[in-house]
Amino acid sequence: MVVGGGASGMMAALAAGRSGAEAVVIEKNPRVGKKLLGTGNGRCNLTNENAGAGFYHGAHPLFAEHALSLLDPAAVRELFRGIGLETKAERDGKVYPLCDQASAVLDVLMFAMEKQGVAVHCGERVTAVRWELEGSRRTFFVECASGGRYQGDCVILACGGKAAPGCDGQSYELASLLGHRVSELFPALAQLKLEGDFFPFLSGVRIEGAAAVLKDGEEARRERGDLLFTNYGVSGPPILQLSRKAGEILRENDTAVCELRLCLLDRWRPDEILSCLERRFQILGDWPISQCLVGFVNKRLGQVLLKLAGLFHRKGTVSQLRREDVERLGRLFWDWRIPARGLRGWTNAQVTAGGVLTEEISARSMESKLVEGLYFSGEMVDIDGDCGGYNLQWAWASGFLAGRSAAGRQDAAPTVP
Ligand SMILES: Cc1cc2nc3c(=O)[nH]c(=O)nc-3n(C[C@H](O)[C@H](O)[C@H](O)COP(=O)(O)OP(=O)(O)OC[C@H]3O[C@@H](n4cnc5c(N)ncnc54)[C@H](O)[C@@H]3O)c2cc1C
Repeated sequence: MVVGGGASGMMAALAAGRSGAEAVVIEKNPRVGKKLLGTGNGRCNLTNENAGAGFYHGAHPLFAEHALSLLDPAAVRELFRGIGLETKAERDGKVYPLCDQASAVLDVLMFAMEKQGVAVHCGERVTAVRWELEGSRRTFFVECASGGRYQGDCVILACGGKAAPGCDGQSYELASLLGHRVSELFPALAQLKLEGDFFPFLSGVRIEGAAAVLKDGEEARRERGDLLFTNYGVSGPPILQLSRKAGEILRENDTAVCELRLCLLDRWRPDEILSCLERRFQILGDWPISQCLVGFVNKRLGQVLLKLAGLFHRKGTVSQLRREDVERLGRLFWDWRIPARGLRGWTNAQVTAGGVLTEEISARSMESKLVEGLYFSGEMVDIDGDCGGYNLQWAWASGFLAGRSAAGRQDAAPTVP
């Protein structure tokens, strides 16, 4: 019995079915795979060619290694090809369906489950999982809010986390009721809220540059790519990537200072930026100071930078700028520090950091070390990946391992259909 018809649960049911088990998916929504449809902006970045344990987080990221090697990214692509989905790899190893439609990923999974004889019961919210022992035989009972009750030999909990609208984190309650402990949960791959009253003015400005999270002034992680200013701060793929680190720092203690450093011209050396500005200011000596960045950066961004450097309201012309003014302004192009206030909440996050403790789960099979016959997979486990297809890769790989193990074939070599 697979609780949850998301990416991981569907893969688990398929793998269990293919390993000879009779599998049933029990899903609270009216249909399975709702979240999949919105992944990768509707294109579904279903894996990443580079996926390995180094791209994952949690108390013990190496826990993910076995599952990830059993169904690695190449095997995921092969498996999907076998059920009808052609894929393509893009920049940074991100893999998408060839047709660029997330719905195709869901369609082929549903066809494959049907072909395999997997039963799917939707509209069934699971409220508890219980078990009884009769001699050495354990029987599980899955209880639903509707009053429905399912009975079987083993259960795979694949009911996801708290991220995204409609995800209430009930999965963790189900695990706790079965005696499992859950680590502190926080949103990951979420937008960062920053301090600054100028953000609404900058909303919509986009630049390509670098961003870094600083802890007490020291760089903790750096990313580059498209940065998009929004009403509340900065968004874009590099920020999503940094958000987990920022979340960790913000949670650590009250005294740690978490800042975002923007490097607007990260391909330039600081001395190149300064000499470029100096050259400009010599040529444009008769311009008003408030206009001195026009033609160099986005106009709105330029105004904010001049304000931050204390120059926007300075009367006079560019020729009156002093060297220290130029240095103060120039520094903002490679080291603009903005205090982080927090992450935007669960509904805006893509994944949950934290989850069911991995020390209570076998990495070789995804089986609970506390309750024989109980398995876990996907986001509800204390493993989360970077942005770029790593989270779905974990969902497939852990679901695949849990499904095969539950079907009693944990030692079998993976066969790619
Ligand atoms: C907007 C967005 C975009 C994303 N894009 C990508 C991407 O492009 N690439 C990538 O790798 N990752 C992406 N992710 C992350 C990825 O979608 C998740 O990591 C992945 O879906 C987790 O799979 P899962 O099966 O563990 O959980 P889920 O997909 O959340 O599935 C859990 C299922 O369990 C069901 N359920 C929960 N509680 C119960 C209950 N009590 N009873 C019955 N059923 C229950 C839920 O309804 C759900 O269908 C994205 C996430 C979001 C929110």
